[in-house]
Order: sequence, then C-alpha cells, then structure tokens
Amino acid sequence: MAAYTLPALPYDYSALEPHISARIMELHHSKHHQAYVDGANGALAQMAEARESGNFGAINKLEKDLAFHLGGHVNHSIFWTNLQGHGAATPEGEIQAAIDEFFGSYEAFQAHFTAVAMGIQGSGWAVLSWDPIGAQLVIQQLFDQQANTAQGTIPVLQLDMWEHAFYLDYQNVKGDYVKAFWNIVNWENVQARLEAARSGTSLLLT
Ligand code: MN
Repeated sequence: MAAYTLPALPYDYSALEPHISARIMELHHSKHHQAYVDGANGALAQMAEARESGNFGAINKLEKDLAFHLGGHVNHSIFWTNLQGHGAATPEGEIQAAIDEFFGSYEAFQAHFTAVAMGIQGSGWAVLSWDPIGAQLVIQQLFDQQANTAQGTIPVLQLDMWEHAFYLDYQNVKGDYVKAFWNIVNWENVQARLEAARSGTSLLLT
C-alpha cells in the first residue's frame, strides 16, 4: 500500500510575501500539512491491522480519521500549486472563458467565491470545482477537510480558510487575507486542472 508523502513546495517559503509570510508558509507546509500526511498513513496502517486481526471495533473512528487527514493532504497539495509569487492577477484564455460562461464575469465569480470563503462557520475551504455530471464549474464550501461537497466534483482552485492559514499575518481580519489571495493565484495551474478535469485524463493533478 502506497504511503503518502509531503510534496515539496514548487517555490520558496518566502515566495508569496508580502501576501503570505514565509513564517506561515513554513509552519503550514512543514507542520500542518505533514500532520495530515502522517494522520492518513496512520489511519491506513490501523485499518490494515484491523483486517489482520479481524477486529473492526474502531472502524468508524478510523474512517473519520482517514477522511479528515487524507482530505487535508489532498486539499493542501492542490492549494500550494494554485499559488504563485508573481504573474497574471486575473484569469486568461480558457479559464477566463469558463469563468465567464458559468459565473457571468470574473467580478461576479470573485464576489461569489469571496462570500463563500468569508461565510465559512468554523474551519474550511472555498473551492472552485468541475462538476462532471453537469459539465460545469461550481463553487463549494468545504467544511473542515472533508465535508459538504459532492462526490466526484474535481477541485481546480482552493483557498484555505483555516485560521492557521492566515492568523499570524492577518489576525481576525480575514477579509484582507482573501483580498491578498487574489494577487497570488496561479491561473495557469487552475487552467491545467480544468483541462485535465474536463478531459477526464486526470482526476487529481498534483
Ligand atoms: Mn491548512
């Protein structure tokens, strides 16, 4: 069984400054993301032990642990690649056309996505996903690391709204964090994810 590993960031910890500090990036990647990787591996190992012993008494807890920690691993793996320290601040090409088609305009999409991010009660994520059933982009409000999204939707852009993602830099002013996010979106990565999702060649490009 393949063990999960922490992926290297595609840029330095300081690359997203001044929008996200190197201190946050280092803690977020090397501590928080690592903990999700370890938690997912631990849950799988305990499930293997349960199969070996035939004792499934803890299976409900283990399934919750796997959903949470594997969710965290997937979410952060996507999030890192959705960001960059420089480049286009607005979408272009196919991703721009798709946003216009499904949300009316970039401004309407941005307002919708921002409201979803700001409205999360507790911890969670704002997620732009491809819905292969409706063949359309949808915005979802992901609770914790694993809840409140539909099976089969494929994330193409995610924003981490857990306090650990912004508190050191922005304290409780999370609106400024969301504003800063729009300056560091890697739209080429979002477009590559959309192309892969639409073509069905890759369900999870990391
Ligand atoms: Mn996080």
